[in-house]
Amino acid sequence: MSAPPRPDLLSLTPEDLRASLSDHFEGRGQPTYRVGQVEKWVYQSLARSVADMSDLPGVERSALAEAFDMATLDATTVQRSTDGTVKHLWRLADGELVESVLIPTPRRLTLCISSQVGCAMGCTFCATGWGGFDRQLTAGEIVGQYRASRQWAEDNGYGPITNIVYMGMGEPLSNRKAVHPSLTILNQGYGVGARRITVSTVGVVPGILELAARPEQFRLALSLHAPSTELRAELIPLEKRHPLPEVLGALEKFDDGGGKRITFEYTMIDGINDDVDLIEPLAELALRVRAFVNLIPFNPIPYQDWKASRPDRIRAFAEILERRGVSVAVRGTRGRDIDAACGQLRGHTLVQIEKARKD
Ligand code: SF4
Repeated sequence: MSAPPRPDLLSLTPEDLRASLSDHFEGRGQPTYRVGQVEKWVYQSLARSVADMSDLPGVERSALAEAFDMATLDATTVQRSTDGTVKHLWRLADGELVESVLIPTPRRLTLCISSQVGCAMGCTFCATGWGGFDRQLTAGEIVGQYRASRQWAEDNGYGPITNIVYMGMGEPLSNRKAVHPSLTILNQGYGVGARRITVSTVGVVPGILELAARPEQFRLALSLHAPSTELRAELIPLEKRHPLPEVLGALEKFDDGGGKRITFEYTMIDGINDDVDLIEPLAELALRVRAFVNLIPFNPIPYQDWKASRPDRIRAFAEILERRGVSVAVRGTRGRDIDAACGQLRGHTLVQIEKARKD
């Protein structure tokens, strides 16, 4: 019989980590301050392995490494855009690949992280959706992207990460078993404020309700992309399972919590979802849940010949929404020169690996 998997130091919530370490060191007759030493290595010093924990006696490091796993990520590719955006492709312990992106702006450094390897949702405008689903990430692998990116940002003069968005590969609310603890770990362990963490969903209603029930003020972004069920179903297959009226009902519950902010993400695709007739229904939805609207020019992907909406059309959307009292921003497309649309870098790398295998 194979041994049960060891608990991963990076996947445990701070409370569980403390309890597990207390049991471990108590069982070994060690002083209680050993717990604090390990916590410091995990949350502050960003140790990559138990072997790094140099203030523990060697015998205690060996015992700790035997009792606990510590799943860290290795960067296989780092792409740096001319606009400062940095995309990492991380290799996980089993060889799977996930992406994260650092997006610097004058006042912020935002990290976009992945929650799954691939994605089962099949959204037609998304490179990850075209690649299909491989597996869920663990909480430690989600948090690991933050740890490794923070270290990279420090080493390369990018400064501290101020915001985290769960907008990389995968649908976070389809991996709630890992995403919930990862939120707790980032917030309580690494000290990232809840209001600086945004979870993005295409509309997984049970997940929105669970997030609404949490006491922390994590933010929620709905990938809306169309204000009617008919059009949305052409872009997001999940719309057939959780239609917009049901999603809006869940968002109202999220908003009921008070002070929890909702954002609508609206990717503007030329001739697909940028008809001016769509502005009024979009305004109505946004006003109903007091959502901030981000208009994002479509970032072309290899599997579709769609183009971004024309700038004048995007401006018209923004101006009319504003006149209707909706808070709106037009987001620049970042990192166009580095496969920055989610899933593209992994997609290209997998094609190269496959090609190398065949050659
Ligand atoms: S947009 Fe998000 S949910 Fe849809 S396929 Fe891409 S990663 Fe998955």
